[in-house]
Amino acid sequence: MKITAIRSHVLGYELPEELGYSQQYYARRTAHIVEVTTDEGITGWGECFGPGNVALGNRAIVEKVIAPMILGDDPMDRDVIWHKVYNLLRDHGQKGMPMQALSGVDIALWDIAGKVAGLPLHKLIGGAHRTRVPVYGYGMMLRRESVDEMVARFTDEAAAIKGMGFAATKMKIGMGPRDDVRLAEAVRRGVGDGYRFMADANHCYTTADAFYVGRALGELDAYWFEEPIAPEDHDGYRELRAGLTVNISGGEAEFNRWGWRAILENRGLDIAQPEVCALGGISEYLRVLALCHAHFTPVVNHVWGSAVAVATNLQLLAAMPPLPGGMHPWEPMLEFDTTHNAFRDDLPVEPLDIQGQVAASGGTVAIPDKPGVGVEPDRDFLARYAIDG
Ligand code: CA
Repeated sequence: MKITAIRSHVLGYELPEELGYSQQYYARRTAHIVEVTTDEGITGWGECFGPGNVALGNRAIVEKVIAPMILGDDPMDRDVIWHKVYNLLRDHGQKGMPMQALSGVDIALWDIAGKVAGLPLHKLIGGAHRTRVPVYGYGMMLRRESVDEMVARFTDEAAAIKGMGFAATKMKIGMGPRDDVRLAEAVRRGVGDGYRFMADANHCYTTADAFYVGRALGELDAYWFEEPIAPEDHDGYRELRAGLTVNISGGEAEFNRWGWRAILENRGLDIAQPEVCALGGISEYLRVLALCHAHFTPVVNHVWGSAVAVATNLQLLAAMPPLPGGMHPWEPMLEFDTTHNAFRDDLPVEPLDIQGQVAASGGTVAIPDKPGVGVEPDRDFLARYAIDG
């Protein structure tokens, strides 16, 4: 079998309302789907992390840099292809956009391998340790409104997400330490005691401010404090983890086994959040997962993007071994964005209907069992949302 073409589909639309996190507001949703075609009629689909104009830059890397390296190669040689591309790009970026671009191609090659074998990815990896995964719904995004308005909205929204059946919820923070503590108190009021909630700072704090917010999150019994400080600040993560009771999570902005080795050896994370569509695809995710487990660090995948990314992550969550195991083992969760996302809900020929499954099951979703990643993008949908440039 030979790879005959590699194509990026960058999709975009205007959101019904502007959303924000600690770094910026945004009004447009984008997605970057990668299509790998072969001479035997099998097509693989992957996805690259990277919103907005980053997706357009990644498209150029996929189509103009990576594709010429591997056209004509056997798509079943995905690990050979991974190392060929990585070694040729090493001098030009061991992290960031080259790895995001390679991720989408690698996922598409795994989709092809699953279709050749007639097996869903979790079977190809080694089988399902779980047939359903709990889902946490994140919302409580920042908006251009007063903090008083935001406090009221966060309470209502947290209660609504709990009401939809999600197993847990996650809020954004990033308005400054004191206001952020008020927002976290608002979420706890909305969900009541005993319900799991998490807070995501998108690395906006100094270590000192992160200690202030983290102590409050601990008192509120928040489950984790996500990306409190800059991902480069390994020493800061180690200090926070040693000094706070709340779990410290992060890693979505880290790449490949060498980047992950450094943060794991530093002992700064209670929970690792690798992003398969950025860190190097499924091939590299499996190596990073093994590294995390070698350090006894549990993993809850970072999930962002379209149904291709969600299905890929469901496959990986199914195939994740228990750590450390037991009758009532620690379980991972699927991250799910409760804000408007047509690329997740309407892209596949057969939608995953995560929200419907969550509502019907009390907070869990089934693992797709079709060959490969488990979703087929609708070509009319891809054409309708395609953006040029
Ligand atoms: Ca995050």
